[in-house]
Amino acid sequence: MHIEDNRYLLEGGVDPLAIADKYGCPVYIYETAVMKRQYERLTKAFDLKRLKINYACKALNNIAVLKYFKSLGTGLDTVSIQEVKIGLLAGFNPEDIIYTPNCVSIEEISLAVELGVKINIDNLSILEQFGSLYPEYPVCIRINPHIMGGGNSKISVGHIDSKFGISFHQTPHIHRIVKAHGMIVEGIHMHTGSDILDIEVFLQGAEILFEVSKEFHDLSYIDFGSGFKVPYKEEDIETDIEELGEKITKRFKQFCKSYGRELTLMFEPGKFLVSQSGIFLVKVNVVKQTTSTVFAGVDSGLNHLIRPMLYDSYHKIVNISKTEGRSRIYTVVGYICETDTFGVNRKMTEINEGDILAFYNAGAYCYTMSSNYNSRYRPAEVLVHEGEDYLIRRRETMDDLIQTQVDVDIFENKQVTA
Ligand SMILES: *Cc1c(COP(=O)(O)O)cnc(C)c1O
Repeated sequence: MHIEDNRYLLEGGVDPLAIADKYGCPVYIYETAVMKRQYERLTKAFDLKRLKINYACKALNNIAVLKYFKSLGTGLDTVSIQEVKIGLLAGFNPEDIIYTPNCVSIEEISLAVELGVKINIDNLSILEQFGSLYPEYPVCIRINPHIMGGGNSKISVGHIDSKFGISFHQTPHIHRIVKAHGMIVEGIHMHTGSDILDIEVFLQGAEILFEVSKEFHDLSYIDFGSGFKVPYKEEDIETDIEELGEKITKRFKQFCKSYGRELTLMFEPGKFLVSQSGIFLVKVNVVKQTTSTVFAGVDSGLNHLIRPMLYDSYHKIVNISKTEGRSRIYTVVGYICETDTFGVNRKMTEINEGDILAFYNAGAYCYTMSSNYNSRYRPAEVLVHEGEDYLIRRRETMDDLIQTQVDVDIFENKQVTA
């Protein structure tokens, strides 16, 4: 979003206020132009013929978004059988979907085998069960390289205390199982979690993966996962993709040479591809002056955007109804009946009731983490593509809220007696 002629505008000159007007608030808006820019940045950073980007759809799983990524040429990274099915619905070929579950049953993994997708296994017990059931089905193995990727404790997943992956110290066990069942290991994978800041740490993880990989002779790809950090605040540092690209490219080429074959380098970013593509528009219901602050109370809450409360995430907020005039300090809060603070002491152009606020970085882990808490409807989603807006998910209704409830009808005429 940028300011032009005193108005906030999206790519292609689309006016977010017009979208708020047309579809109502709260509403999520995603711009394909930003997704494309990020995708191209990533593919340009790695100078490799065999590079494959699998979009991690848990960040934002609207089918229209998935179809857009398919049109760009990505594959799909999925973490549940339902995400696999959504990917197939979006038109991805099974071989372009990688399924990376954690702590799921062998039954669910069997369903993924039936659907023909790539399977990434992250513990020895499942590897063993898988080997005895499907010795011929090629697998990828998720290695825990024991590195601290960065970010907070909830999103850092590649360290020694993490539940994810098979420790690289257990590689001999992997080989025993693979050998016993005559399995084919086609890929080696790591995913260290969000918010990589230190490229050197990532490269250390890569070295561990190369060490592990050289002992497997049927590989066709190495998957370095994701965790690329994007800026949320003006002064935020982001993962230097260009530097990472240059370093990994060089090292990967060397590895392939010593391995004796050209392998595919895979990544599976979610946040990097979609975070900045999204804004979330809410309407200010109440401006409330208290003894300590001025609250701007909006028509949304942690039910629609939980990241600030769950991760202490910072989302930049602007008043898009007014680009000029004096600024004041606000605490932006939701309408949920418990504390749901979106931002404290935020400087914004003066807010009147009815103004529309926009949250930045609302593309990743926002809608997909939303809920019906307080019996509220989940918002609509709108895609902005080449100057046009498209409704890609309608706002929920009362019917949506109650449709899964079963009315047992057993209490009628039963008088409560004292
Ligand atoms: C969540 C997840 C990703 C995406 O992580 P981002 O930080 O959004 O890029 C990639 N791979 C796996 C296995 C994941 O669980």
